[in-house]
Amino acid sequence: MAGFGWFWDAMGGKTGRNQKRSKQVVAQSAKLHQSIAGLSDEELSQQGRALCADGSINDAPKLLAVLAEASKRTLGYTPFEVQSQAVLRLLEGDVIQMDTGEGKTLVGAMAATGFALMGKTVHCVTVNEYLARRDAAWMSPLVEFFGFTVAHIEESMDAPQRREAYRASIVYAPVTELGFDVLRDQLITSRDQAVQHGADIALVDEADSVLVDEALVPLVLAGNEPGAAPAGRITQVVAKLRPEQDFSIDGDQRNAFLSETGARRVEQMLGIDSLYSDEHVGHTLVQVNLALHARAMLTRDVHYIVRDGKVALIDTAKGRVAELQRWPDGVQAAVEAKEGLAVTEGGRILDTITLQALMGRYPRVCGMTGTAVEATDQLRQFYDLRVSVIPRNRENQRIDYPDRIYATAEEKFDAIVEDIASLHRVGRPVLVGTHDVSESEQLAARLAELGIAANVLNAKNDEEEARIIAEAGDIGRVTVSTQMAGRGTDIRLGGADERDRDAVVELGGLAVIGTALHRSKRLDQQLRGRAGRQGDPGSSVFYVSLDDDVVQVGGAGESVTAHPDADGLIEDKRVYDFIQHCQRVTEGQLLEIHSQTWKYNKLLADQRVIIDERRASLLDTEAGLDALREHNAQRVEELEQRYGHALMVQAARELLLYFLDMGWSDHLAHMDDVRESIHLRAIARETPIDEFHRIAVREFKQLAQSALHRAQETFDTVEIDASGVHLEDAGLARPSATWTYMVSDNPLSGGGNSVLRGIGAIFR
Ligand code: ADP
Ligand code: MG
Repeated sequence: MAGFGWFWDAMGGKTGRNQKRSKQVVAQSAKLHQSIAGLSDEELSQQGRALCADGSINDAPKLLAVLAEASKRTLGYTPFEVQSQAVLRLLEGDVIQMDTGEGKTLVGAMAATGFALMGKTVHCVTVNEYLARRDAAWMSPLVEFFGFTVAHIEESMDAPQRREAYRASIVYAPVTELGFDVLRDQLITSRDQAVQHGADIALVDEADSVLVDEALVPLVLAGNEPGAAPAGRITQVVAKLRPEQDFSIDGDQRNAFLSETGARRVEQMLGIDSLYSDEHVGHTLVQVNLALHARAMLTRDVHYIVRDGKVALIDTAKGRVAELQRWPDGVQAAVEAKEGLAVTEGGRILDTITLQALMGRYPRVCGMTGTAVEATDQLRQFYDLRVSVIPRNRENQRIDYPDRIYATAEEKFDAIVEDIASLHRVGRPVLVGTHDVSESEQLAARLAELGIAANVLNAKNDEEEARIIAEAGDIGRVTVSTQMAGRGTDIRLGGADERDRDAVVELGGLAVIGTALHRSKRLDQQLRGRAGRQGDPGSSVFYVSLDDDVVQVGGAGESVTAHPDADGLIEDKRVYDFIQHCQRVTEGQLLEIHSQTWKYNKLLADQRVIIDERRASLLDTEAGLDALREHNAQRVEELEQRYGHALMVQAARELLLYFLDMGWSDHLAHMDDVRESIHLRAIARETPIDEFHRIAVREFKQLAQSALHRAQETFDTVEIDASGVHLEDAGLARPSATWTYMVSDNPLSGGGNSVLRGIGAIFR
């Protein structure tokens, strides 16, 4: 807690996150309110600044009082005491847990303003563009009250607009855009091209989603360069394989494996000796596995659709076509080949970063979410963050019913439909959380047969979804949505304007129904939290069947005897406990995959930091020119005399950066191959991670040295004139176009319904 110890010192105690103490501060703060209420706006703003004059907080209770009063004047919200308590915790650098609907947006903005008063810049990290725009607009009066600027980032902005936006003291931005900007800034050849200027603090909303669930999603920056297409023949051969005999799918549905028979058939059809020979293990076997993966694990209309002759991914967690997503290149090509489509040219991957590595770039991270407690271990292990639980302002009135367990998926489905219908009959609003779009649609179709019109959220934009979700608490509404859809939207009873609030309260509030348990209890909690905002009545219940993923995967190899009634309902404490156990197992698996995968990523993330430093020194100093002078002093001197020192500094910079960047890009591609082939070598019982590390370290050592040599060599012959260095004439052009995307290679996503389950297993 270096640098923040002052805070607790200032409060006269070091009992850490002791709730009692922070409550005392808040109570003290409330008493100060009277004395502050009389100040003019100007005086109040002055006070705030004075309280943090030396970059730290001199008087925490008073600062909270000032922030609260400013909130009241600018936004019309008088913060509840629990909100002030949460602000304190954020300022101290915790992840706070505060239930849905308790007002985290305001809490985040107050904390961000507090940081700004201390002279710090803040990135408020959101899960989508809609929320970044909404929160920046909503909270700007508070921030601006103290004379600070606030801005937000959206995808459509060009570089100058972004550069301008990032100048603000507080920037609201979707996590993906923050990452893409980091990657693009990694290609600049002079400092003034950068759009980001760094920030002191990342304040992450929906912190568990960003920091845990999506932590290992790689953001990718690619440049145009034709890539190799996978052989169509392999796809044909794989299409002929027979399930079970030739290949199997492992118990947790994460990977498809060739059996020995299958391998022999492939060898026969391809006319090769052995897939596992040195000649084939690196290329053919990888391609066969990709084709098998595309065939066995990725289903058309579930994981992707074919539209306009192209494969478009469906993000099953969000239930929509994922416009900007691709699978890792090999998989994308394999699916295209399977569908008989033209295989798109792969670009050259210039750089990639995971959200976890992105967050690691901030000197300080804090965050807020409705469900942090269940992520405590991950937050501590991966980010050294502590969780603070903030009590609710009004007592929770939501009734959480025990899971309703059915023998089969069909019986469960019938029971869910019946439950919805009977709630709907009396007019009570129902929000159903499903696992994927196809389930949502199936359910909506059944409801339609019963004359119940359900709003199904999918394939729409965040803003529209937010509007629909905002109305989900209205009389007679039935809303069917996947886990992630419409997150961050407030569901008020009786409609967004609460016109029929009393009637809905009378009926018991919003009823939340989960159609299956998630792989982690935390995700269940997120869904439950949609009901019962700010002390509203409400209820939640999850349906489970013994066919469900969680039970099959978590209970693999175990069985339980159940005695269902005529409708398939099982009411048995032992079965209930067994299901809890299954969910704990799947939770443990997710954590294990996360740590394993991170082990692979961590090394590259560390190497990336070194590249960053190298780039910075090339951009900000004359190190590049010095290197050239060392190699060919005569040419440097001649050219300097002709074109001047400044031009030569820039020319050297571009030359060295070019080779450094391409070297890094090659390194990433190479390590990707290594990672894939190493997985296959694991069969030969080598320890994959150690081998991976050994190769990564060795290759990286050569990278910088070889970039330097190649730059020096090129310098001898490359043309340099009054307009600078002509790399393109030497066939060394940087990609003329770049694009960004997210790889849906997310073993940890949402409800365990990652688009690409199998690939995660490659990292094991
Ligand atoms: P969360 O992000 O915690 O789920 P939001 O920030 O979306 O919650 O806020 C939920 C609702 O609470 C919003 O409609 C907001 O207007 C309201 N709200 C927040 N703080 C206060 C307050 N101090 N007084 C009254 N209403 C508040
Ligand atoms: Mg929120």
